[in-house]
Amino acid sequence: MKYLKTIGPDLKHDFPIFQNQPDLVYLDSTATALKPQIVIDSLTEYYQEYSANVFRGLYPISELATNKYEQARQTVADFIKAKDVAEVIFVRGTTEALNLIAYSLPRAVFKPGDEIVTSVVEHHANFVPWQRLALVVGGRFKVVNLDQDLDQVVTKKTKILALNYVSNVLGTINPLKQMIKRARQINPKIMIVVDAAQAAPSLSIDVNDLDCDFLCFSGHKLMGPTGIGVLWGKRQYLEMMNPFQYGGDMIDQVSIERTTFAPLPHKFEAGTPHIAGAIGLAAAINYLSGFDFSAILKHERHLWQASYEILKENPNIKILGSANWQNRTGILAFYHTKIHAHDLAQILANDQICVRAGHHCAMPLHTAFKIGASVRLSFYLYNTIEDVKRFGKSLKKAEKLLKIR
Ligand code: PMP
Repeated sequence: MKYLKTIGPDLKHDFPIFQNQPDLVYLDSTATALKPQIVIDSLTEYYQEYSANVFRGLYPISELATNKYEQARQTVADFIKAKDVAEVIFVRGTTEALNLIAYSLPRAVFKPGDEIVTSVVEHHANFVPWQRLALVVGGRFKVVNLDQDLDQVVTKKTKILALNYVSNVLGTINPLKQMIKRARQINPKIMIVVDAAQAAPSLSIDVNDLDCDFLCFSGHKLMGPTGIGVLWGKRQYLEMMNPFQYGGDMIDQVSIERTTFAPLPHKFEAGTPHIAGAIGLAAAINYLSGFDFSAILKHERHLWQASYEILKENPNIKILGSANWQNRTGILAFYHTKIHAHDLAQILANDQICVRAGHHCAMPLHTAFKIGASVRLSFYLYNTIEDVKRFGKSLKKAEKLLKIR
């Protein structure tokens, strides 16, 4: 039986930032997660011990770097249960992955009047590329609103449906499997894109079970380095797509007359990749895989509930989204009717409490709620109930300071 790590206050020892910032209450893992020592070590190791380019050198350290880079791809494939490792493309992050799809689909795939559907809950990275694509190809951009079901928006003409797995504002886990099944009943030829940026850190992902066509996530949100992320796509689609960038390593043959491209996944990885990033991402996935995903979710929900209890007592506070602690990760967004989100975040910051204030790259959702900004708390496996208590205390202090209660 696999030995699983336990989640508790001792976990903070795995994260050197807590030794350097002993007073830190980090409630912004949705923006980026903290890094365990093991991930930092994997980066240092690469730079100190075998810092060579991949696919080029015949000398041992280049071969080692290439092996580690390709092993990292296999680690990612196993993590999302992809059967074909060549379907895993390393990119900069979720934003680049989603843009890559939108740019690289041949224009001939679209007919005038084709629909591209997303939801009002999306991060801008899963909203703006589709809005732009619809403009460029003369398609219709349609958005599923908060009070709508998929069935009311998706039709036989819908070519692409792009949805988040977990909302970065509401923390809701979408019942994606059922949604995808329903969308395919409406149009069997629909292409389904999943933004798993907020799902990958907390859920066990299976691209086959979901039955999606593309799935994207960022390394830094699951404790890996910044600047590395993943695009997984079904071979049939990746094969028909144009390269995203042209240059070294993505070619097969180049002559003055013409260029042919390398097979998957290299066709989409032009230039020197983020080698250390891929190796660090694999280290992060290995670290994360040492935990039981249901224990991670349970922990996040426990902290979510504890902060919900504090916030719901406060008549000046409105929580965004459902009060249901099930079907969610540890993300809680709210606004204070008498303190602007940025002012509140600033006061919390003075007590070393890191939260996010603003629209969290989800302006259409904030507009739907008729607000400009909210405060977002997000919990991950290294947070503790003590962190929640410190947040509650600091919130009280802010209200006292501003003479609100
Ligand atoms: N989608 C979602 C749901 C996100 O939360 C984020 C990051 N906040 C992104 C996309 C974009 O990720 P990145 O900035 O790593 O490209």
